[in-house]
Amino acid sequence: MNTLFGERKEGATKIVLKSVDEYPEAPITLGTTLVNFTGDWRTFIPVIDDDKCVKCYICWKFCPEPAIFIREDGYVGVDYDYCKGCGICANECPTNAITMEKEEK
Ligand code: SF4
Ligand code: SF4
Repeated sequence: MNTLFGERKEGATKIVLKSVDEYPEAPITLGTTLVNFTGDWRTFIPVIDDDKCVKCYICWKFCPEPAIFIREDGYVGVDYDYCKGCGICANECPTNAITMEKEEK
């Protein structure tokens, strides 16, 4: 997978704190996206239509997360472990190849 994370993503896990007692006493980070999936709170997900995609990679450039990746065939994919559902990619796509759909959870 052609993401910023590469192989290191394999070790990523979701950090879940079950009560306030488990929170750290100091305001330290719970880890970067290298160790913590961060895309699970979104409401909408981007869905890409390859038939409309012209491989311009504008979506890849504008995505604020490392969530858009370039597939082996040159089209783009979305890494939903990190996609926040912000919709910027859909807004910037010049061919309207990306639509935001309500995510079923
Ligand atoms: S911005 Fe649209 S057309 Fe360009 S690579 Fe992304 S999905 Fe394809
Ligand atoms: S919805 Fe936002 S975070 Fe998700 S792929 Fe598009 S630009 Fe990136």
